[in-house]
Order: sequence, then structure tokens, then C-alpha cells
Amino acid sequence: MADKVFSCSICGDVIGMYEPLIVVEEHQARQTSRAAEPALTRERGIHYHRDCYAARGLEQTPIKP
Ligand SMILES: [Zn+2]
Repeated sequence: MADKVFSCSICGDVIGMYEPLIVVEEHQARQTSRAAEPALTRERGIHYHRDCYAARGLEQTPIKP
């Protein structure tokens, strides 16, 4: 099921099923997780670990709660 593996666009590591992840779609960032949103596909948007995203200072794209 390699196509179900999400990896972080910053560190390149796999994003775990229950890890908080940030998805950026159409210049909008939001926080979710693969567990919360099983229909999420890696083809749509760019994915980051929440911590990587925060550490990079990318908050200029506001995260919707
Ligand atoms: Zn990461």
C-alpha cells in the first residue's frame, strides 16, 4: 500500500496515521490527521508534520482550526 504513505515535504519522513498533519491546498493550510480523514489522498495538496510546518515558520499561511 505504498500509495497510502504520506511523507512530510520538509523532513521527508513518513507521516503516521495518528500524527497531526498540515495539509496545504489552494494556499490554505489546515490541520488534520490521516485517522481523522481517511479519504485524504496524497495527490491533493502538500503535506507536512505539524511540528515541521511550525518550525519552518510557514504560519504566514494561517492554519484553520
Ligand atoms: Zn516532517
